[in-house]
Amino acid sequence: MKVPYSYLQDQFATPEPIFAELQKLIHSGDFTLGAALAEFEHKFSAHCGARYGIGVGTGTDALFLSLKALGVGPGDEVITCPFTFVATVGAIVQSGARPVFVDANEQFVLDADKIERAITPRTKAIMPVHYSGQPCDMPRILGISKRHNLRVVEDACQSIGGEIDGKRVGSWGDAAGFSLHPLKNLNVWGDGGIITTNSQDLRDKLVLLRNHGLANRDEVEIYGYNCRLDTLQAIVGLWLFPQVEFITKSRIETAAQFDAELGKLPQIRVPRRNPNMRHVYHLYMLHAQRRDELVAFLLKNGVDAKVHYPIPMHLQRASAYLGYKAGDFPVSEAHSKSVFTLPVHQHMTEDQKQYCVDMVKAFYQQA
Ligand SMILES: *Cc1c(COP(=O)(O)O)cnc(C)c1O
Repeated sequence: MKVPYSYLQDQFATPEPIFAELQKLIHSGDFTLGAALAEFEHKFSAHCGARYGIGVGTGTDALFLSLKALGVGPGDEVITCPFTFVATVGAIVQSGARPVFVDANEQFVLDADKIERAITPRTKAIMPVHYSGQPCDMPRILGISKRHNLRVVEDACQSIGGEIDGKRVGSWGDAAGFSLHPLKNLNVWGDGGIITTNSQDLRDKLVLLRNHGLANRDEVEIYGYNCRLDTLQAIVGLWLFPQVEFITKSRIETAAQFDAELGKLPQIRVPRRNPNMRHVYHLYMLHAQRRDELVAFLLKNGVDAKVHYPIPMHLQRASAYLGYKAGDFPVSEAHSKSVFTLPVHQHMTEDQKQYCVDMVKAFYQQA
């Protein structure tokens, strides 16, 4: 049996209804900042419980432009977690600010207990990452940001639909960035991103920043970027939107099944699950003894297991100029040696789920 990580061929097996919508777009010529984009922004922000949505080119742009709009730039420091995808840190660097790392907790996200000791007079913002779909402790992070007058940009690229105390991610910080990359939980046919915010002032700035700073066709308010979400991608996003809750619930159910089965194995550790949070399992990640051997065994037997990621950001060559060294973030470093990811998507059959469980068990039962 094969359990592939990618499900795109299944997801878009019958694309004809989308083609019909795209044909209308092609006849209308409404390619940039078109009507479908406004509709998508509205639906997306409503889903997050945020007032405004601003469609942009990528998730990375969503984070970078949010920092820009909040006035973050050279000379500033932005606190984030080294256990993340490169784009979190890349967005901070692109703004001109210096990334300052704070270790992850047991659940793979920014450890709120360790934030305050990393704050300096240059700290301007915190970028908590709801990594793997696990929400960060936003009530505590907002408490810290208020005490120290810091801005908060949520990296929600992996966490659409996630909640803390019933309140969705993307509605907590000054702004939040989401990715619509083909392998994210709500995806489009290429790159795409969206920012959510409750601030009209910030929304107005972001609308300028993504479109050359143009107030209208002839007047330039500020220098900005060309960084819009294509109407074409908004149409794909709108078509998938009615499925987003089904996709989320399906991932949560599969994860619960895996937790129950794999949690019984002494060689596997399931991270603590917070009862007051809704984890949306963009990644289903566990700790494993003999991780590298397990992943090789799973791959050999057709289960597309992965490691996200084997090198934390502070130890990447690109981060050398920041001056960190091995041992600085022991929790993140331990995670990078023990975590593995199983497919958890909505197109998995019951047989495929059982097969994943059976193969992990089989690995530890061998001599
Ligand atoms: C995917 C991702 C991004 C960047 O999104 P893109 O759309 O690929 O630019 C940023 N942060 C995290 C945590 C991500 O997973």
